[in-house]
Amino acid sequence: MKKILQDLGLTELENLISSLGEKPFRAKQLYTGLMQGKKISQINIPSALRGKILEEYEDEPVKIIKTLTSSDGTEKYLFALSDGNVIEGVLMKYKYGNTQCVSTQVGCRMGCKFCASTLQGLIRNLTSGEILSQILTVNALHGGDAKTRAVTNVVLMGSGEPLDNYDEVLKFLKNVSAPDGVNISARNISLSTCGLVPKIYALADAQIPVNLTISLHQTTDEGRARTMPVAKKYSIAEILKACEYYFGKTGRRYIFEYSLIRGENCDKEHADGLISLLKGKPCHVNLIRLNEVEERDLKTVTEKEAYRFLGLLEKGGLSATLRRRIGVDIGGACGQLRINYLKG
Ligand code: SAH
Repeated sequence: MKKILQDLGLTELENLISSLGEKPFRAKQLYTGLMQGKKISQINIPSALRGKILEEYEDEPVKIIKTLTSSDGTEKYLFALSDGNVIEGVLMKYKYGNTQCVSTQVGCRMGCKFCASTLQGLIRNLTSGEILSQILTVNALHGGDAKTRAVTNVVLMGSGEPLDNYDEVLKFLKNVSAPDGVNISARNISLSTCGLVPKIYALADAQIPVNLTISLHQTTDEGRARTMPVAKKYSIAEILKACEYYFGKTGRRYIFEYSLIRGENCDKEHADGLISLLKGKPCHVNLIRLNEVEERDLKTVTEKEAYRFLGLLEKGGLSATLRRRIGVDIGGACGQLRINYLKG
């Protein structure tokens, strides 16, 4: 596999260009082209330089090979990577802008029982440039460039556990928020984790104040371990402590994802459990009805049951919302993204 030019920030690109004996302004030219979502072969630089770069770098590291559009406007993409692996991604359209859900790994090794992304285990980590290129490609597809962005918000909620690929994800966060790049600021980026505690501390110390989202889904460690193997490693208490640290460092309120699974986590005792865990903390709870995955026998709840659970949380003083399920008809909703597969 060739190298990926989108892995480089502007300064690194300048170093590369000067090592090739070229004038510095060529770096800026290349960088601007890349940030517009262009392939290297489409960027207007001297052909000798272009040839030299293409010998070592992938022309198009992330390519859309299929698109599905949901009845609610959500789009799901199948991206091909240069080694033949594929990943899925989603673009959700809201009044305030477009949110892209990006993948951080091919597959995932966390093994959550409700999620399709982990069925085949972890195939490999994505590089920062492969994560960034998902955005550059979709932004260009929708007529955006680095200045007038079609993608305004980013969620690291596609396949993979972002904090299990920490170094590349951190580099991605730096590059995607670089002012001379696509410049999507940390406040418009959400990172979701199943709760890799040491890496939450590391992220807090990295001082890139993204919105931290924790996939909680249960109120006790034993209950959580039934569907999330990671719960055997890190307790809810340790996660909450790490979240407080994150809040202290960044000033950003944190968010808990809670997918409602019939018979598992949505009775009154669970609402009470959540209230006693979270009351008074600077956090928000995002409820979502489980999206059923055909290989698993976990079942979702009705909308009415979901609103009842929401009501209990609100009555108990928590800030909570029930998220609209979008993109379900194209298998593009939470937990439905998978490898090798684009089903409509
Ligand atoms: N690995 C990260 C990023 C995935 S984000 C994490 O665990 O947070 C995807 C979100 O959707 C997570 O909150 C995940 O727990 C949730 N999810 C996974 N499968 C789901 C399903 N079938 N229905 C609803 N939500 C699901």
